[in-house]
Amino acid sequence: MITIDGSEGEGGGQVVRNALALSLVTGQPFRITNIRGGREKPGLMRQHLTAVEAALTIGGAMCEGAAVGASELAFTPGRVTPGTYRFAVGTAGSTSLVLQTVLMPLLLADAPSHLVLEGGTHNMMAPPFEFIERAFLPIVNRMGPEVSARLTRHGFFPRGGGRIEVDITPSKLMPIDCIDRGALTSVLATALFAGLPFEIAEREIKTVRKLLLDWPADAFAVRQLPEEQGPGNALLLEAAFENVTEIVTGFGKLGVSAESLSKTAAQRMAGFLASDAFAGPYLADQMLLPFALAGGGSFTTVKPSQHARTAAEVIQQFTGQRWTFEEQAGGSHLVRLG
Ligand code: AMP
Repeated sequence: MITIDGSEGEGGGQVVRNALALSLVTGQPFRITNIRGGREKPGLMRQHLTAVEAALTIGGAMCEGAAVGASELAFTPGRVTPGTYRFAVGTAGSTSLVLQTVLMPLLLADAPSHLVLEGGTHNMMAPPFEFIERAFLPIVNRMGPEVSARLTRHGFFPRGGGRIEVDITPSKLMPIDCIDRGALTSVLATALFAGLPFEIAEREIKTVRKLLLDWPADAFAVRQLPEEQGPGNALLLEAAFENVTEIVTGFGKLGVSAESLSKTAAQRMAGFLASDAFAGPYLADQMLLPFALAGGGSFTTVKPSQHARTAAEVIQQFTGQRWTFEEQAGGSHLVRLG
């Protein structure tokens, strides 16, 4: 039995989600202790529990200890059954993180699946929907499967109520090399808001315009969503290259000024644009799982995050693969099977 100490490395929810996905794909049971031991409020939260329940449902699996607040879990996978599923986080917990738990097992299954996921679509510390749609899924699709996602309703913390739908046509995952991101083809800055004063979005756009000076005037937009989808606000900065799209997000939060979240997001985007890396820090930690399941491939990224290093460790426990991070001359890092 594989035993994982959930407090090691990043010590967050991704350790649990990656372990669930790897367990379903490889058929190996696991036990995890100290779940989210690296977080201020450790243990399974509602959104992690939804991920566990989703894994149980699609994988005909068995589990001991799945409860809100649990610090330990034992999971025994069964046979993954593709099909139509609806999973509701029940709070504003992230729909994209539930998707990441079940996506790999379903895209390696023997028939298509259709998912309806309800909860948050733009959550702090999780990929916003656009990131899944335009940054992550295009890479997965290049490896063989066909996965498409659409957002039918936005969900922000704390209200939730968002909804995304995902269609998955499975295929074996082929190893690919993602080294050269290609030329920059378009840029876009969108301040999304719902049920909040227009002025917040305007101030965000004004701030990023001052910092991303070479972005054209028509790259900046404010998008007002129906009031009942709020309150909520996210600033999305998107840079599309020939071979990859990077999205940096600033999430509106009480107590954080529009100017300060925009400044942080613009600086992060400027940092990525100045590098020659293929993947930004978040995309990198999310690419490791499909790459591992493809059994190879490589990509470049900015300085590897603790999330990425921890993902590599969990992958090693299930597959024996050793993914390495090697600094390159220009400062980016090459990630590949060692
Ligand atoms: P954890 O903190 O362990 O629950 O994992 C969070 C996951 O969300 C990681 O896979 C991160 O890459 C991803 N993530 C967090 N923030 C963002 C963001 N702003 N954009 C894209 N992905 C994100």
